[in-house]
Amino acid sequence: MNSIRTPKRRLITSALPYANGPIHIGHIAGAYLPADIYVRYLRSMCEDVVWVCGSDEHGAAITLRAKKDGTTPQEIVDKYHVEMQEAFSGLDISFDHYSRTSSKKHHKVAQEFFLQLLKNDSFEVKTQDQYFDEEADQFLADRYITGTCPKCNASDAYGDQCEKCGATLSPTDLINPKSTLSGAKPILKPTTLWYLPMGRHEDWLRDYIENGMLDGIPHHNAKAWKSHVVGQCKSWIDGGLQSRAMTRDLKWGVPVPIEGAEGKVLYVWLDAPIGYITATMEWAEKNGQDWKDWWQNSDTDLLHFIGKDNIVFHCLIFPILLKQHGGYILPSQVPANEFMNLEGAKISTSRNWAVWVSEYLESFPEGSDTMRYVLASLMPEQRDSEFTWLDYKDRINNELADVLGNFVNRIVVLTRKYYNGSVPKTPAPSSLNNVDKALIESLSKAPAKIGDLISRHRFREAQLEAMNVARLGNKYLTEEEPWKVQKTNPERVKTIMYLACQVVGNLGIVLEPFLPRTAEKLRVSFGIPQAKWSDTSPNIVNPDTILGDLPILFTKIETETIEAEIAKLGSKDDASDNENNSNIMPIKDSTTFDNFTAMDLRVATVTECIPIKKTKKLLQLTVDTGLDTRTVVSGIAEHFSPEDVIGRKVVLLANLAPRNIRGVESQGMILMASTSDGGLRFITPEEGVNSGDVIS
Ligand SMILES: [Zn+2]
Repeated sequence: MNSIRTPKRRLITSALPYANGPIHIGHIAGAYLPADIYVRYLRSMCEDVVWVCGSDEHGAAITLRAKKDGTTPQEIVDKYHVEMQEAFSGLDISFDHYSRTSSKKHHKVAQEFFLQLLKNDSFEVKTQDQYFDEEADQFLADRYITGTCPKCNASDAYGDQCEKCGATLSPTDLINPKSTLSGAKPILKPTTLWYLPMGRHEDWLRDYIENGMLDGIPHHNAKAWKSHVVGQCKSWIDGGLQSRAMTRDLKWGVPVPIEGAEGKVLYVWLDAPIGYITATMEWAEKNGQDWKDWWQNSDTDLLHFIGKDNIVFHCLIFPILLKQHGGYILPSQVPANEFMNLEGAKISTSRNWAVWVSEYLESFPEGSDTMRYVLASLMPEQRDSEFTWLDYKDRINNELADVLGNFVNRIVVLTRKYYNGSVPKTPAPSSLNNVDKALIESLSKAPAKIGDLISRHRFREAQLEAMNVARLGNKYLTEEEPWKVQKTNPERVKTIMYLACQVVGNLGIVLEPFLPRTAEKLRVSFGIPQAKWSDTSPNIVNPDTILGDLPILFTKIETETIEAEIAKLGSKDDASDNENNSNIMPIKDSTTFDNFTAMDLRVATVTECIPIKKTKKLLQLTVDTGLDTRTVVSGIAEHFSPEDVIGRKVVLLANLAPRNIRGVESQGMILMASTSDGGLRFITPEEGVNSGDVIS
């Protein structure tokens, strides 16, 4: 267990998503699905639990996005606040309350928090030279400034962090600093900032992280924390904690509530975690509760679900702020996940290398449970993992459809056929053979086993154990063959079918945290009123229950379907640029000369072009390579119409293995330039370069 005691209530938070872009599956697998599985389980255990989240609506990424789109920060956050909630609810992410940090209420809560910190002498006030962009009339911090990393020499480090080596930086650390607003070389100009002297807190933080001790008293079970979380914190503390500025000279954010601090706002990483408190206050108000029970009572366990990039903020900075303020509890567990990659590369918003939840749900309107299942199977709990569409297809077809769906369907069909859909009577104990008894024993033990894994945040294994209940039933049915036995011993079949129905009934509860829609269908059909963990039992389904209608649970996924999804990757989408304000793609890892010469790049001429039916993004091109005429499918239909393309000379990767895309065999790939403004352009050869000319 995570706690050193049994808490009376649990407050769960998930990282506040930045309201500057849509939600992708990497976000879901990192901070939202794990929390949802955990919270659904706690609810079904009738525990006192509240789960809050909300949009993080401040910070440089949002103002930069607004500037790029020619709109206001408010319009950006209003748009994504709505869109993100739709994405979450589309995947049945069941927050108790979803708030936002641009609300008046939150500004007030964050300002009062800051004033209390000020009163408690938590800051060092320093007037220092900071970089200033004269053209944009603004001080440059965080993502407003880039330059060369002093640690690893990466050319595109930000003012707060180098994404290449992970180093935490100050703008003044950067070599050759440049404003991301104007591109100008900034000047130095004095300004006053409020710093959090983190070095003062090293000793107690070390005891808290390494030993789970707080003020000399056992606080939580440090051994239950993930090793990568503890490891990251230790390396921060070992490296010496630097003072960190908690204010910014910006217009967008929570204004610093001090006279003479006009034009200054709270650092986004000061105000965002306080957003958890605001969200809880709003929830408590709506539900007639006292928010202080959740934040200021040592009987409460506080858990932060986050991705690994937020560990320092939740394990070091926020605990310092809470302790400095006084009266607040500190997190007893921060089960951070690592990252999920996609089809062999890092998920990248700016390159559209992502599976966007909203687009996914357009393609798969009934796909909430299936995506949840695949993401939980691949959850990056201890190390980075990778999502592929082929894996998505295989897991749905071979596991959900073949194991779970097939098992449930056989039970429903046979119960209808033999007993008009009515569950047989409870068999007499004397009629049970050893196989039946073994099934009953496994079924009795499964819920506790699954629950224990969920409590320890081992969601991949927990889901596997829940699916093993279906496997158990499937195996039982296959071995007992009721369809054969019915001819000779119909009494025996009643026992088999009774027990098999019990397996389905238990699945209706143990699958609830993972596959809530499927679990509900099973409960409704098998007459189980609610998802209550304590109701699991080998006699959960009452005899004589008339099974309700239950259509096929999972349809199999075709190869063409996932090929169409793969074809969407990498095609530039204008609504999806939020991680690189420069938009220039970083240089990829080095490759070998042999790898390069293995590629047959040559000039070709487009002779015909037609749209591919029922797709928005694909065009089917016929190209003349000088040697042959071939078909190429290209994901450029949102940028070009067929008449723009016919007659063009293009660069073709001619020896790419043929791929079937939406039923069309694509024999090669047209090379395109993704421009920094989000556009897509052809690479047009000079005059005199002809079809068949080789590029080397
Ligand atoms: Zn670096």
